[in-house]
Amino acid sequence: MTAEKHQAVTVLGATGSIGTSTLDVIARHPQRYRIYALTAHRSRETLLRQCLVHEPSVAVLHEQSDAAWLRDQLGQAGSRTRVEAGPEALVDVAQAEEVDVVMAAIVGAAGLLPTLAAVEAGKRVLLANKEALVMSGALFMNAVARSGAVLLPIDSEHNAIYQCLPREHRGGLKGHGVSQLLLTASGGPFRGWSPEQLANVTPEQACAHPNWAMGRKISVDSATLMNKGLELIEACWLFDAAPEQIQIVVHPQSVIHSMAAYHDGSVLAQLGNPDMRTPIAYGLAWPERIDAGVADLDLFAVARLDFEAPDETAFPCLRLAREAMRTGGTAPAILNAANEVAVEAFLEHGLPFPAIAEVVAQVMESQAVVPADSLENILQADRMARRAAQAVLEARS
Ligand code: NAD
Ligand code: MG
Repeated sequence: MTAEKHQAVTVLGATGSIGTSTLDVIARHPQRYRIYALTAHRSRETLLRQCLVHEPSVAVLHEQSDAAWLRDQLGQAGSRTRVEAGPEALVDVAQAEEVDVVMAAIVGAAGLLPTLAAVEAGKRVLLANKEALVMSGALFMNAVARSGAVLLPIDSEHNAIYQCLPREHRGGLKGHGVSQLLLTASGGPFRGWSPEQLANVTPEQACAHPNWAMGRKISVDSATLMNKGLELIEACWLFDAAPEQIQIVVHPQSVIHSMAAYHDGSVLAQLGNPDMRTPIAYGLAWPERIDAGVADLDLFAVARLDFEAPDETAFPCLRLAREAMRTGGTAPAILNAANEVAVEAFLEHGLPFPAIAEVVAQVMESQAVVPADSLENILQADRMARRAAQAVLEARS
């Protein structure tokens, strides 16, 4: 391959769990990919190291002061990477003309605008940032259809379903013989725990996931099952499915990453070791396949695959998410915003674990739902739900 054939990649959220796994896969294929931009929120030391290895054209940090520090360090090292700061710079590197592929791996609502910018610019968008799609649903999918962007799901479950659906499934499940999507869930670190046991869990316990090493926010979401709730909403949008067409299946080994069931009784599954480099490599190379550095699946070591129904009494977040999707409009954006505030309060300020779901439920009850047909409505719902969640937290303390 000549230099011109390199795919230029922007990694939004490069210093996170998905971001570093993405750079690991990319580093295995220097003849296929080069980095256009790397972005981080505040992790300037990690971003500096990544810039020295991957030599991006642009690096982005949130604060001007951090950007000045990085500029200085890179200058001393003789690097030609340009350093920018702030949310507008994220949008710029997501839609830049030079860019072919955007990995959307910022956590939370902060990823919405740059991810949408990548979609609107018609890029190949690798979507890890599920919160962006949960918030903006129809608006996001309409932008994909309009711009011709290639949207590839990186969330392991959705990547698995994508692999199990026929190539031309984009118009939805109907007409392709699919009866149901089976979304697997590990059950998180507290699977089988009673409400009494859940009352006193710590952030450290919640972040110690049995099968996956992930960022702290998604780790807490996995422990509350809100992650599966967000994924249910994500699957509805990605595959044009109704919530009733999606069954959540707790599968503690996390070897089956999800399944598609067909009307003739066939169930197709995608299996693999729980390693995010598999869906990342799939998204990068689709429709080709490349080495991801992932160990071969040893079925004899796995030995058995177990399945059970989720416990929606001990873990009400899953039910709340399903209700938000059924309600529609800005309800999923409200759910997401309240959850982000509550998870932060659990991680940083001692909010009890079971109160995460209570805060989300209270905010959802208090907020008016409007159509999510404009970015203004969505961002306004996000802001108001955050304010309402803060008020609920203050009233509790
Ligand atoms: P992480 O916390 O490890 O990394 C988040 C990245 O986003 C970091 O680079 C951070 O600097 C950046 N960031 C955080 N806040 C920001 C802000 N306000 N503005 C700009 N940048 C910001 O998170 P992660 O585990 O890598 O998850 C990233 C996304 O991928 C999440 O949406 C998560 O749900 C999704 N996801 C993660 C996994 C996983 O295995 N980690 C699996 C599936 C989906
Ligand atoms: Mg997932």
